[in-house]
Amino acid sequence: MEALIILLLIGLIPLYFWYWPRLSRAIINRRPFPKDWLTILQRQLPVYERLTVDLQEELLQLIKLFLSKKQFIGCAGLEISDEMRVTIAAQACLLILNRPSYEYQDLHYIYVYPTTFRAVQEIRNEIGLVSTQTRDLLGESWSNGKVVLAWDEVERGIRNFSDGNNVVLHEFAHQLDQEDGAMNGAPLLYTKAAYKSWAYVFGMEFEKLRHRNPRALDVIDDYGAQNPAEFFAVATETFFEEPGKMQKHHPELFDQLRDYYHLDPREWLT
Ligand SMILES: [Zn+2]
Repeated sequence: MEALIILLLIGLIPLYFWYWPRLSRAIINRRPFPKDWLTILQRQLPVYERLTVDLQEELLQLIKLFLSKKQFIGCAGLEISDEMRVTIAAQACLLILNRPSYEYQDLHYIYVYPTTFRAVQEIRNEIGLVSTQTRDLLGESWSNGKVVLAWDEVERGIRNFSDGNNVVLHEFAHQLDQEDGAMNGAPLLYTKAAYKSWAYVFGMEFEKLRHRNPRALDVIDDYGAQNPAEFFAVATETFFEEPGKMQKHHPELFDQLRDYYHLDPREWLT
């Protein structure tokens, strides 16, 4: 009898890991998108209205799943509202729209501060020596399942969705970057050929940014010159917010990002 119970329990394990996630996903998918959330989405992310109906529907599903799985934690006295949750989720899900993804499966917590926050960061110099530095940050992405954001910076990013600065797109691009275990400026690309052309184009563009005349303005922010991971995050901000300029001045980089994100944000611009 005991052996039968043990066998039954062992049999339930795959059922739990395989069947339950699919069932809970199907339940969430069938739930209507709350009206209040839709009002927030339309107000906070005007590009939503310019997506095709299919992409709009997919974005709503992704937001529902995201909000059902990720926990938001208010810091320094900040109370988390639906406006914060939907605004952050909508932008994060824009990065995984229209393509197969792991939907940030390793991310569990989103910490939100009212404004810039102080954090101790490890800085590695060119010969590999590590020192610590206390800095005021707008956002931070960790490999241990958390993202940290300053709400006033999130709002600043959403108020102007065409200036190439967006802390949510930036930090969630870092999350995508580290899905393969290393935050090195190359997210999961799946084919050898894709990694090869990514390495060529991103390597070339990163070096161009690093050696650019500091007085010459570029559509890609200087912050991207810090290292390849920052370059990918900054290039993602530019791709979504200034796609026309990026296509004009960095066409190969634009093509790499369009292939990766499976989207062309130029179609959303008015
Ligand atoms: Zn960064």
